[in-house]
Amino acid sequence: MSNSYVLVINSGSSSLKFAVIDSNSGDALVSGIGECFGLPEAAISWKYDGEKTEESIPAGGNHHQYAFERIVKLLDDLNLTEKFVAIGHRVVAGGESFKGTVRVDEAVVAEIDRLAELAPLHNKANADGMRAAMAVFPSLPQFAIFDTAFHQTMPAKAFTYALPHELYDDYKIRRYGAHGTSHFFVSREAAKMLDKPAEKTNLITVHLGNGASITAVKDGQSVDTSMGLTPLAGLMMGTRCGDLDPSVIEFLIRKGWDSEKIFETLNKKSGFLGVSGLTSDARGIMDAVDAGNERAKLAFEVFTYRVAKYIGSYLVALDSLDAIVFTGGIGENSLPIRSEILNNLKILGFVEDAEANADARFGKSGVIAYSELLGAQAIVIPTNEELVIAQDCVNLL
Ligand code: ADP
Repeated sequence: MSNSYVLVINSGSSSLKFAVIDSNSGDALVSGIGECFGLPEAAISWKYDGEKTEESIPAGGNHHQYAFERIVKLLDDLNLTEKFVAIGHRVVAGGESFKGTVRVDEAVVAEIDRLAELAPLHNKANADGMRAAMAVFPSLPQFAIFDTAFHQTMPAKAFTYALPHELYDDYKIRRYGAHGTSHFFVSREAAKMLDKPAEKTNLITVHLGNGASITAVKDGQSVDTSMGLTPLAGLMMGTRCGDLDPSVIEFLIRKGWDSEKIFETLNKKSGFLGVSGLTSDARGIMDAVDAGNERAKLAFEVFTYRVAKYIGSYLVALDSLDAIVFTGGIGENSLPIRSEILNNLKILGFVEDAEANADARFGKSGVIAYSELLGAQAIVIPTNEELVIAQDCVNLL
């Protein structure tokens, strides 16, 4: 069989990841990321043939669009575009409309756009990415892979809000979760590392990136997750507040705030950015902590304490625990953040292996702590949502 390639596009809230995956070997021929969109340090970088190239993105303008155009030019220059067999798009919110991967057409894009009511920061970027890709590659089959799909196994007790049940019956207001592709991938990789069948592993998977979420995985299936109706719930994130007393909203309304200002604040001005007043980026927060900035220290403490609290609460969803799995840009790379989370979990008996923790970074997996009390490990596994997406496309083709 000749080589055939899938172009995977993961258009996130502040980043655009892309990869050209060889569908036979699973290898990434070229992969890259445009990141820190909207910030002065916005940049695009890619790896090809063992070499890394990085370019900064000029300030102003639409950074998503700039990055997409740069990627298309790059793939053209590398003579890859005619080899694609499909394009796979990561989509955050599928609501109850999409329970699995679907072929993209105008109606699917329109529905994904409509579902932006569930994922304001993401679905719009996803739909725009699809429209841009359909315009440039009109004859290629394109597929949408939904981040909510892995969480469809949650029991009603985990996805039901304690609201009048009509709100679910009439509007489908419930917990959907997100980051499912990543939680699915690392749960399967963890099973391999633990040398257990996936359907017998019990895990707490911790995805910490600009968006952050935690999932309880029982017998290989998602049984609870921290994001809710939208990706605003749960952990503190780069710019999102996570869990909040809903009365804060009513309080602000009484102070004269309108809903647009409130939700702009909760989605885009909170989290690391809001608490520190400095930046949404974990690296910037840690640099400021090292320089003695008190608000950055508070942001670091709120973030790590809340992650640990969620991990503790998800023990309730499991009968036993094989491993806590860290992934995502922060989970894969930030030594001090992982250390502080484990430090907050001392009551569960986790003892960190500092050397292993320092080693498991920048794309390397590893076991970084062990709890004799629980018989559980803490492990780091780099996520690979692109690989899951490419494999799904090829299976459907
Ligand atoms: P997204 O949710 O946009 O996909 P990522 O998973 O790429 O986000 O994670 C982005 C976050 O990861 C940022 O806060 C960034 O600072 C953090 N990060 C990336 N590399 C490192 C690193 N070497 N050390 C600490 N944090 C890092």
